[in-house]
Amino acid sequence: MKFNIGCHLSVSGGYEKMGKTALSIGATTFQFFTRNPRGGSYKYPTDEDIGALNSILEANDFAPIIAHAPYTLNPCGADESLRDYTKEVMSSDICLLEKVRNAYYNFHPGCHVSQGVETGIQKTADTINHISKNAEKTIILIETMAGKGSEIGKTFEEIREIIDRCHKKQVVGVCLDTCHVHDGGYDIAADPDKVLTEFDRVIGLDKLKAIHLNDSKNPLSAHKDRHEKIGDGCLGIDGITRIITHPVIASLPICLETPNELDGYAREISLLKEIFNSK
Ligand code: FE
Ligand code: FE
Ligand code: ZN
Repeated sequence: MKFNIGCHLSVSGGYEKMGKTALSIGATTFQFFTRNPRGGSYKYPTDEDIGALNSILEANDFAPIIAHAPYTLNPCGADESLRDYTKEVMSSDICLLEKVRNAYYNFHPGCHVSQGVETGIQKTADTINHISKNAEKTIILIETMAGKGSEIGKTFEEIREIIDRCHKKQVVGVCLDTCHVHDGGYDIAADPDKVLTEFDRVIGLDKLKAIHLNDSKNPLSAHKDRHEKIGDGCLGIDGITRIITHPVIASLPICLETPNELDGYAREISLLKEIFNSK
C-alpha cells in the first residue's frame, strides 16, 4: 500500500508551484485554500497552470489533493444574501476543481449561531445541493468539526444527517480531522479502531475520503480546535502512530495542518513515513 501524506501549502505562487513544492518535501498529496483566507484579490489560475500541475500529479502518482473552501464562509448562516454569496463562491470553486486531475473540495459545514442545530443541518445540506450541481468528478468533503461555538458537524450523527439530505450523495464524502474529532470527544489517539467503527456505524466508511492529521493543544472533548505540531500535543506521538498505522487511515490521503512552515512540514512528513514504514 502506498502511504500518501502531505501538508497545507500556499496557493499564492500558483498551482504548478504547489506541485513542485509538494515534490520537494516528499509529499504525494497536499491541501490549499482556493482563495486567500484573508480576502483580497483572487487570481484565477490559468488553464496552462492547472495543466502543469496535472502533469506533476500524474507523473508522480499523487493521491487526490484537497482544496479547502475559505473558512470565512458560513454555509448555514442566517443571512440569505450571504448564503447566496457562499453558494456562488463554492460553485465557482468546484467549476475550477473539475479541471484538476483528482481533487476533493473540503469545507466546514458552518455555524448555526442562534438558529439551532436542525436549521443549520438543513441549510448546509441546501448549500451542498446547490453547489453539487457543478460537481461531476470533484468530491465535496464535509469536515468533522471540534464543536467550537455553534459549529455543526461536531458529531458523526450531525454529518450523517447532512448527507442524508443531499440529493447527489455520490459526490459527497467526509474529511476526518484528528484534532477536531479529539476535541469533539472521540478518543482517536487511544483507540482509532473504535472511532472508525463508530464512524462506520453512523456514516459508513465508504464516505471517509481524507484525513487532516493534526495534534491538539487541548484535552479530549475540549471543543477548542487549536492544532499542535505532531507529537507535541494531547494526541502525542504514540496516539499519532496508532492513527496513521490503522489500515483504513493509511489508505487515505493524509494532510498535515500543523503550525509549521515548509521545513517543519518536511520534517513531520519524513518522521511519519518512517513511523509508517517501521510498523
Ligand atoms: Fe478545515
Ligand atoms: Fe482540518
Ligand atoms: Zn482546525
